[in-house]
Amino acid sequence: MALQSKFKQQLKNRFFDRVRFDEPMTAHTTLRVGGPADAFVTVTEERELTWLVQWLKENDLPFFIVGGGTNLLVKDKGIRGVVICLAKDLATISQHGSTILSAMAGAGLSTLCRFAIKQGLAGLNFALGIPGTVGGALRMNAGAWKGDMSNVLDSIRIINPAGCIEFVDKRELTFSYRSLSFVEEKSMDLASCVILEGRFSLSLQRSERLKAEADDMLNVRKKTQPAGFASAGCFFRNPDSRESAGRLIDLARGKDLRVGDAAVSEKHANFIVNQGRASAEDILCLMNLIQEAVLKKFNIMLEPEVKIVGD
Ligand SMILES: Cc1cc2nc3c(=O)[nH]c(=O)nc-3n(C[C@H](O)[C@H](O)[C@H](O)COP(=O)(O)OP(=O)(O)OC[C@H]3O[C@@H](n4cnc5c(N)ncnc54)[C@H](O)[C@@H]3O)c2cc1C
Repeated sequence: MALQSKFKQQLKNRFFDRVRFDEPMTAHTTLRVGGPADAFVTVTEERELTWLVQWLKENDLPFFIVGGGTNLLVKDKGIRGVVICLAKDLATISQHGSTILSAMAGAGLSTLCRFAIKQGLAGLNFALGIPGTVGGALRMNAGAWKGDMSNVLDSIRIINPAGCIEFVDKRELTFSYRSLSFVEEKSMDLASCVILEGRFSLSLQRSERLKAEADDMLNVRKKTQPAGFASAGCFFRNPDSRESAGRLIDLARGKDLRVGDAAVSEKHANFIVNQGRASAEDILCLMNLIQEAVLKKFNIMLEPEVKIVGD
């Protein structure tokens, strides 16, 4: 159901030109697809964010947080309710003592990695080149090179569904492949919370050495991943730690498949790229074709790693 006009007015009164209605999500996702969000609010302060979460709860309205939109496939009818985006103001990175860094959720993940390198702090190099924000990376437990956020995360600060700020220690979190959740005893769903900040425990290392390692990793990324095309990175989860989805897709001749402007990258078979005017529906059709091809050849059902959201 569309957002009632009284709610639109209340959002306007609070956020002025930082709320937009029927905002196309194509502009906020790296796959460049997606219909409109009923309301799209850019939040610049913690106080505003707590107010907004409380207001949404009081009015029983759904919300969705968008970070860099680098892991999202938003469907063509868009997102009902309020999409919340953390502005660059919520992007502070700071050092505490010699080896602890904290970063607000709106900070760029690569910015955090470069900050760590500059301070001579090791542990985050695996994340260099993963696009998006710290908030998105934590929620996704983003990773590469056999490392992920669980290796370095110490704690997070969140806004819980009641709109209150909470500190959550690593021991209260469960990390899995591209996913972060609370331990069962906490009986709360992380999907209904906003991650505000992450605190990372790193180790001392010479900056020059970290930089050299980072350059090597970025070079491999450049060689193996398509540049210049709209994508959401690896589209499917690897079926297990020994088998890559990309290899299976390649062997199932997935690179021959396309639907409209949605195609499988020539360079990396696990990347679906939007070569121009693909719709979300085109990408979902291509996803099904790839799943069918891999199922037929290997009897393995690939599951999307990309988050599919909206109507
Ligand atoms: C070219 C390319 C390469 C990539 N390579 C990798 C890779 O090597 N490894 C890897 O793991 N991923 C990779 N990705 C995927 C993606 O970059 C990561 O998953 C990234 O961490 C997502 O961050 P984001 O800010 O864009 O999140 P979004 O895509 O905006 O959101 C992802 C999820 O996080 C939630 N979220 C975002 N911010 C918050 C917040 N503050 N609080 C609560 N929930 C939040 C969203 O609601 C959504 O559910 C790649 C993507 C691209 C386009």
